[in-house]
Amino acid sequence: MSIYLKNATFIDWQTLEFKNTSIKVNSGIDRGFDFIDNYSVLTGDEVIDCSGKYVTKSFACGHHHVYSALARGMNAPKQQPTNFYEILKYIWWTLDKCLDKDSIEASALVTAIACAKNGVTFAIDHHASPLAVDGSLEIIANAFEKVGVSHLLCYEISDRDGIEIAQKGLSETENYLKTNQGLVGLHASFTISDNTLENAVNLTKKYNSGLHIHVAEDKYDEEHCIKNYNKQVVERLYDFGVLNFSKTILGHCLHLENKEKELIKNSNAWVVQNSESNLNNNVGYFNSRGLGKNIMLGTDGMHSDMLRSAKAAFYVGQGFDLIDYPEFYRRFRNVHQYLNSNNFSGDGENNLVVLNYDTPTDFNSNNFLGHFLFGIEAKHVQHVISQGKLIVKDKKVTTVNENEILDFSKEQGIRLWERMSKITY
Ligand SMILES: [Zn+2]
Repeated sequence: MSIYLKNATFIDWQTLEFKNTSIKVNSGIDRGFDFIDNYSVLTGDEVIDCSGKYVTKSFACGHHHVYSALARGMNAPKQQPTNFYEILKYIWWTLDKCLDKDSIEASALVTAIACAKNGVTFAIDHHASPLAVDGSLEIIANAFEKVGVSHLLCYEISDRDGIEIAQKGLSETENYLKTNQGLVGLHASFTISDNTLENAVNLTKKYNSGLHIHVAEDKYDEEHCIKNYNKQVVERLYDFGVLNFSKTILGHCLHLENKEKELIKNSNAWVVQNSESNLNNNVGYFNSRGLGKNIMLGTDGMHSDMLRSAKAAFYVGQGFDLIDYPEFYRRFRNVHQYLNSNNFSGDGENNLVVLNYDTPTDFNSNNFLGHFLFGIEAKHVQHVISQGKLIVKDKKVTTVNENEILDFSKEQGIRLWERMSKITY
């Protein structure tokens, strides 16, 4: 069974070359497609008329948080946060402690649906649910697979809720890595003891994985590290070997000294930028100077729209970073390089998005980047193909019943908020 995209304008995501063609998309993991103008359609094939539409590689998110999906519309915390640490304590650590199996499943399903409808067919997630650690990654993986979105998951190991829960995070990670591709997640330097950090690095080596950790998102992370370990955050991570893995992802990296940037630049580790989250938390601005080329983009759980993240990186970057048209597109697409160079599966060439882009001006290979920045938005995503399967058709998810899932997630949201209202800080 194949999908046949008839009379499309194909845009090669790497060369930006435009080609008028029809495309037969092969189904299955990490497969490709063929340009065939006279394909004899077989029973069971899906033919989609793509006249006037643009087809290109679908998108991927370098840093997401399923756990925050049910936060939208919840009450303000009982105490108003006055800094980054209090934002975590009063909001996110209150929320994650109240997650249970059902609310994790609801969070994962609505996140996967949002990804799919935004043309995102692969998500790298960083999950925390300290009172429901066991089996949480499997729940998320199943939900993503139901919707048809590929994934690279990790559990956010931390000592913030005690040694026992840190140990549960390590065990959950190991159980998951035995049979799945994934990463070893760590919250951030300021909530991880030396012992937990060492255990996490050993686990990473054992499963030939990488670490996924927040780094210097706020100045607090650096201040804590200097005070407690007499070194900068990246120096601490470097000393434990976190930067030795090409699968390692360092989130944010806002408040780094030059010597820390140098360590990252000289490693194969990756940095993930999340501009809108940084604006929302008022923690600072990303600056790529000195960090090297391994920079990709994420949403940090704020939403699942990678086109929006790319635009934010460009706009915020005008005041704080070196980012021009080619660079913003390079960062947007770098996640594919991260995934493919590390041999993760699920981001094959048969992941495609069909854009119904009603451009008012000529659109071609030479001015693609201008259109990508100022014109193309998630609203133009008409159809989405993931692993050769049509998961969004005419803006509707085909794989699951979206209305039923939204009813379920609303119900879970109310239960979650009730539990949160009973938490004392
Ligand atoms: Zn994050």
